[in-house]
Amino acid sequence: MQSKFDIPAISTGDILREMAKEETQLAKEIREFMSKGELVPDKIVIEILKEKLAEDVSKNGFILDGYPRTLGQAKALENFTRNDAIIRLRVPEWILVERLSSRRICKACGAVYNIRFLKPKNPGICDKCGGQLYQRIDDTPKLIKERLKVYERQTRPLIEYYKGKVPFVESNTEKIDIPPDIAVAEIIKGLKKLNLPLKGKLG
Ligand code: AMP
Repeated sequence: MQSKFDIPAISTGDILREMAKEETQLAKEIREFMSKGELVPDKIVIEILKEKLAEDVSKNGFILDGYPRTLGQAKALENFTRNDAIIRLRVPEWILVERLSSRRICKACGAVYNIRFLKPKNPGICDKCGGQLYQRIDDTPKLIKERLKVYERQTRPLIEYYKGKVPFVESNTEKIDIPPDIAVAEIIKGLKKLNLPLKGKLG
């Protein structure tokens, strides 16, 4: 998705996974929440986002991936920036469980594969950069189901919160083996209709 735009994608999950590798008290705290599939507390995540948005790279706009996940985070965001659109991916729960539990990610470049639906040419090796593929510790069926419960409880209410305030662009997935490009094309079509300042970069 990021490569279709001339702007960075900021994933709070990626930032937290990097931070969790450190040997600090904060890293230990982050690991505890992430390894249970729970949300990292707002206080920590909001501070991380604030610092990230202050960086030069996000001056021309950005895509937020995995943020906001609570009402507190949504309200904090309003103090930092404008929100032009919300991309809502609608995927049935059984597909999410199947796809996430067979997801693999490149350690070096972050490219995403799936050992059932989007296989790399050589098992365990990234097609793009030759890096090693790994499985996230929270991509087990048990933790995926826990993360979905957390979503229902803490994140789903944001749909109501944003309705009528910020335009939604939706992508609906009903089949398990739909390639990611199809969803991306659908989202770009939806974004174009909004006439955002990004329009020229969407081709
Ligand atoms: P993700 O990579 O977006 O699937 O996030 C993986 C995990 O990182 C989540 O299950 C949470 O533990 C944590 N996380 C990522 N983004 C947030 C956020 N905005 N608020 C709280 N926790 C987050």
